[in-house]
Amino acid sequence: KLDVAHILDWMEKANDKIQQNKTYLTSLDQAIGDGDHGINMARGFQEVIGKISASDYSNVSDLLKDISMTLLSKVGGASGPLYGTAFLKMSMALKDSDSVDYPQFVHAMEEALQGIKQRGKAEKGEKTLVDVWETLLEQLKEQDDFDSVRFEETAKLAMESTKELEAKKGRAAYLRERSIGHLDPGSVSSYYIFSSLSDVVK
Ligand code: ADP
Ligand code: MG
Ligand code: MG
Repeated sequence: KLDVAHILDWMEKANDKIQQNKTYLTSLDQAIGDGDHGINMARGFQEVIGKISASDYSNVSDLLKDISMTLLSKVGGASGPLYGTAFLKMSMALKDSDSVDYPQFVHAMEEALQGIKQRGKAEKGEKTLVDVWETLLEQLKEQDDFDSVRFEETAKLAMESTKELEAKKGRAAYLRERSIGHLDPGSVSSYYIFSSLSDVVK
């Protein structure tokens, strides 16, 4: 089960990874975008930590809602609304829950992915963060408890798979075949988020 403390810990770890890799994320976005992904994510997650560490939460839904609202308003770019929507859908799917069992978590992740896809109009294989979220969801549906899910490995492989793809959505799509050979920055930040979750559910 995941409770408030787990999700707080998840966000701390995700923020640490994003701060440590801020320059790297930005350099990936310099290659096929506008070079701000690391800056956007580092700013947004720092604000998330500021917000959630100054509040008390009696259920995961309220916590996820604060995370979503902060990401929505502080990350900016294309990725801010997408991550904001993902956490908002999780919050809505987990209304009033004080802890989350595995089936509830899978359902919340399913809602989050739907929200991202609706908002960004992207499908898997278009070299966006959808590639990581959808690959992980496929794995979640095949398993029946947290212990069996390989969050870290699955997210990493999906992130690495974006390198050979041609971008069909987002700024990188303007480069067409010149986007091939570069990792998708949003897939790398999503990998950090899920490898952090992997540390928390262990
Ligand atoms: P911006 O491109 O506006 O500067 P960021 O650099 O913060 O925003 O985020 C770029 C990332 O957002 C991309 O690497 C990609 O993963 C993701 N992204 C962009 N557009 C879409 C979309 N339509 N659907 C899903 N993800 C997208
Ligand atoms: Mg950018
Ligand atoms: Mg930008």
